[in-house]
Amino acid sequence: MEQFIYLRYQYRIYPNITQRKQMSVTADCCRFVHNYYLNMRSLAWRTQHRSMNYNACANDLKYLKLVYPWLKEADSMALQEELKDLQLSFEKFFSHSGGYPKFRSKKESGISYRTRNQNGGIRLSLDKHFINIPKIGMVRIKLSRDIPGEILNATLIRKPSGKYFVSLTLKIESASLIKGNHGMEHGLDLGLRSFYVLDDGTVAPNMKYLYETNGKLIRAQRRLSRMKKGSSNYIKQKRKVARLHEKVCFARHDYLHKESTRLAKMCSLLCIEDLNIKGMIRNHKLARSISDASWSEFTKMLEYKMPLYQGALVKVPRFYASSQTCHICGHRNPKTKDLAIRRWTCTVCGTEHDRDVNAARCLLQKGRTMLPDAA
Ligand SMILES: [Zn+2]
Repeated sequence: MEQFIYLRYQYRIYPNITQRKQMSVTADCCRFVHNYYLNMRSLAWRTQHRSMNYNACANDLKYLKLVYPWLKEADSMALQEELKDLQLSFEKFFSHSGGYPKFRSKKESGISYRTRNQNGGIRLSLDKHFINIPKIGMVRIKLSRDIPGEILNATLIRKPSGKYFVSLTLKIESASLIKGNHGMEHGLDLGLRSFYVLDDGTVAPNMKYLYETNGKLIRAQRRLSRMKKGSSNYIKQKRKVARLHEKVCFARHDYLHKESTRLAKMCSLLCIEDLNIKGMIRNHKLARSISDASWSEFTKMLEYKMPLYQGALVKVPRFYASSQTCHICGHRNPKTKDLAIRRWTCTVCGTEHDRDVNAARCLLQKGRTMLPDAA
């Protein structure tokens, strides 16, 4: 295991009016710098077949500040970070893993920009009620949990709901995080009816409250679409939609974190299906799209949490059809492809199966054989 891991922790902050203004000034300047250098880089290429990299842009920025002195009001590190991001999006474009970088328009909804921690510019006050942010000063923070590592950078965020957050990238010593587990071995089948089922029949209920809030969200969005853009009712409704959206997002995240931590604490071995997320993303049904997003997020959480509790996560390839194979005799029953079939009887050994529990048991059996030290 590597010596350090990098995690992002998000906290609610409560900037005062002056600090809010300063944050939006920096965000505006970041957008300006992004658009300006996107344009410059495109021009340099189109007219002179010359590429303009990060260093060239950062160097040029000094002169741009003479032309537009108001750029000096912004956090200069945030402007540099913006140029780095632009560089990254160009690199993605050139390696065919992303589209051509886009111009950004002013959004009244939300803002966000990133700044670096240089010489302790980002630090907590002694009483831990405030955090110092470059060019902003001491901002009140709700320290919902401790900061267990070195702060590398901070992203300042204003959500469309009007709430403010700071998201810190932390460099954490892995050793300080490593804990033991309870030594259990499980197979886990992700599903639509319930979020997951374990091989011993344990069922994690689906995020039902999420769907309920989602229903509200859809109705609120529909109402919004019928309103006159820019009217005061429209603005009010837009806030309402944003708040509901945030609620869904938080609740989902919270649930996934709780479940993944619980499993990581419990298991020394956890076998799951290696889902082909790419193949599933093109599904427009609401329930499916939420599950798909949750599944990939959940898998990512397990990937970093399992090693922290010294457990192993095994991803069983998709072509191993866990839901169609009898875990007792290994007979494959293609009829069970139909998702509606909840229970089935193996035609060879006669065992009666619960579809999900059998799948989880198959995953556990298959996963055990995939461990490095398995014969
Ligand atoms: Zn069988």
